[in-house]
Amino acid sequence: MTTIVLKELTRRFGQVAAVDHLNLEIDSGELIAFLGPSGCGKTTTLRMIAGLLMPTSGDVLFDGKSVLGVPTEKRGAVMVFQKHLLFPNMSVGDNIGFGLRMRGMHKHEIAARVREMLELVRLPGFENRRAHELSGGQQQRVALARGLIIRPAVLLLDEPLANLDANLRLEMRELIRNIQQELRITSIFVTHDQEEAVMLADRVALMFDGVIQQYDIPRNFYERPKTAEVARFFRNENFIRGRKRGKTVETAAGNITITADCGLPDGPVLLTVRPEEISVREDAAENTLDARVVSTVYMGTYTQFLLEVDGRVWRANGPAEATASTGDNVILYLPPKRTWLLPVE
Ligand code: ATP
Repeated sequence: MTTIVLKELTRRFGQVAAVDHLNLEIDSGELIAFLGPSGCGKTTTLRMIAGLLMPTSGDVLFDGKSVLGVPTEKRGAVMVFQKHLLFPNMSVGDNIGFGLRMRGMHKHEIAARVREMLELVRLPGFENRRAHELSGGQQQRVALARGLIIRPAVLLLDEPLANLDANLRLEMRELIRNIQQELRITSIFVTHDQEEAVMLADRVALMFDGVIQQYDIPRNFYERPKTAEVARFFRNENFIRGRKRGKTVETAAGNITITADCGLPDGPVLLTVRPEEISVREDAAENTLDARVVSTVYMGTYTQFLLEVDGRVWRANGPAEATASTGDNVILYLPPKRTWLLPVE
C-alpha cells in the first residue's frame, strides 16, 4: 500500500508549462482520475509519477520518500497504456508472465500466477491463444493482467478504455473498479471523459492548462463546483449575476434563497443551478427567476428547455408533457438546497 504526494510538480516543454506547480495527495488504496481537456497535462503528470519523465522542478513522493531518479519498476509502479503493447506472436500466458520471467521466477509458479491473473481479468483458459488472435477488449485485459501480475504498489492507466467501443468500455470500467477494490492498489487513470471519471474514481483531479482546478469526490463537481469553469466542464452553464446578503441572493430576475454553505462572503456572486434541478412553472412560487422560453426539444423522457434568463442562455429539463412553448414567459423554481454560488468570473 502506497501513498503518493506531488509537491509543486512542474514540467516545462520550452516555454510551455505542461504541468505547473501541481500539489496533490493520494491516499493508499485510492483510485484517482486525472480529468481534463486534451493537452491539459494529464499524461505528462502520469509519466512523471511513473518515472518515465523527469520533472523540471518539484517532487514526487511515494510513502513520504522522493522517488525522483528511481526507475518505474523500482518504484513499484506499472503503467498500462491506451494502446496495448503486447508481443503479437507470443501466447497470452507468455505475455502475462513476461515480467515474472524477467525476475527469474520459477516456471511452475509463473504458470500458477498467470492462471490467477486470467481469472481476475475474466479470461480463464486463454493461456495458449496468440495475442494477435484476441479482440481489442481482450488485449486490453491481457495488458492489465500483465501489469498486475508483478503485484505493483501503484497502477497507472493512461486512457485505458479510449480504444474500446461503448459496450466494452462499460464492461472494462466495471472490471477495473472490481479489481481495484479487490486488490486495493493505489491507482491513477487518465481520462477526458467526465462520466468515466465520475463512475470509476474515489476522487477526481480536474485539470486545465497544467493546473488542478478542483480535487474532490465526484458528487461535488455537480453539487459544489469551485468555479464557473468547473461547472461548465460538467455541462452546467446556468449562471446569473447577483448580490449575496446572508442566505439571500438578489438578481435582476428575482431573489433566491440558498441553504448550502458555499463559503463565499456577502457581495457580488454568480448564482447557479443544474438544468435537472430546475422546475419550469407557469404559476408563481417562492425562490423563482423570471425566464422566457427560447425553444423546447422533446427528449422522450423529458423536455429540454432553452431559456433566456437576464440575457443569458439557460437550460432546464422539464416533464415530457411540458406545455410551455417558444416565446412564453415562465417562472423557474430553484430548490434552495440545490442552488449554489460561485465567485464572479
Ligand atoms: P491528451 O488528453 O490529449 O492526451 P493531456 O492532458 O494528457 O492531453 P499532455 O500530453 O500531458 O496532455 O500534454 C500537455 C502539454 O504538453 C500539451 O500542450 C502538449 O502539447 C505538451 N507536450 C507534451 N509532451 C510534449 C513533448 N514531448 N514535447 C513538447 N511538448 C509536449
